[in-house]
Amino acid sequence: MKYKRVLLKLSGESLMGDKQYGIDSERVAQYASDIRDVYKKGLQIAIVIGGGNIFRGLSAEKSGMDRVQADYMGMLATVINSMALQDALEKVGMKTRLMTAIKMEQICEPFIRRRAVRHLEKGRIVIFGAGTGNPYFTTDTAASLRAIEIQADAVLKGTRVDGIYTADPEKDPLATRYNEITFQEVYDKGLNVMDLTAITLCQENKLPIIVFDMNKAGNFMRVADGEPLGTLVTG
Ligand code: UDP
Repeated sequence: MKYKRVLLKLSGESLMGDKQYGIDSERVAQYASDIRDVYKKGLQIAIVIGGGNIFRGLSAEKSGMDRVQADYMGMLATVINSMALQDALEKVGMKTRLMTAIKMEQICEPFIRRRAVRHLEKGRIVIFGAGTGNPYFTTDTAASLRAIEIQADAVLKGTRVDGIYTADPEKDPLATRYNEITFQEVYDKGLNVMDLTAITLCQENKLPIIVFDMNKAGNFMRVADGEPLGTLVTG
């Protein structure tokens, strides 16, 4: 395999499948079997999941809620998603650990970097929940931060689209997909890849990002194997 250790970022929305809200068990099961297949090739896998399918701080603020309170609710939503994926991974025989940025002793371990690395070395799939543990951040930033901390080789961002486009492909029929792009181009063109905090962290720490379509079974394996799928962000 091309990589030894990767950080897989899944958005909360991707867990919805065709639903409008919540968790689609078939989608979670597909992700779990894809992750198992890659794991069996010897890759160390850490995962960060978003919470947008359940709760988003920014949207709640627009409806009048206090932003910080809402963001903590968003972080809790990521823990619900993490637990769903943990369950699905265990159903396909994986050993897992859920570590959260906010202590929840009865259901998971607190995030401790050295312990996370040890879990990975022992062949456990590690899920990082509760984002960074801080309001005003996103799970994309949590993914970049954790990837740097555990010295992952890349952030693999599995989404519902197959890469980064020149414009929104659902709105602009002339939009084309980049195979490769630099961090600087992402800033200059104002492309919506990840929020800028996440992008900056990756750029400063020379951590490549690959955006790919996770909903197509087998794609995670292809990306992990170094196939030029989706869009690679480097530089
Ligand atoms: N969140 C936060 N701090 C973090 C990560 C997440 O406050 O470090 C909150 C924020 O309210 C966000 C919600 O958790 O809207 C869900 O995360 P995100 O929007 O990143 O999920 P995704 O878009 O990937 O589903």
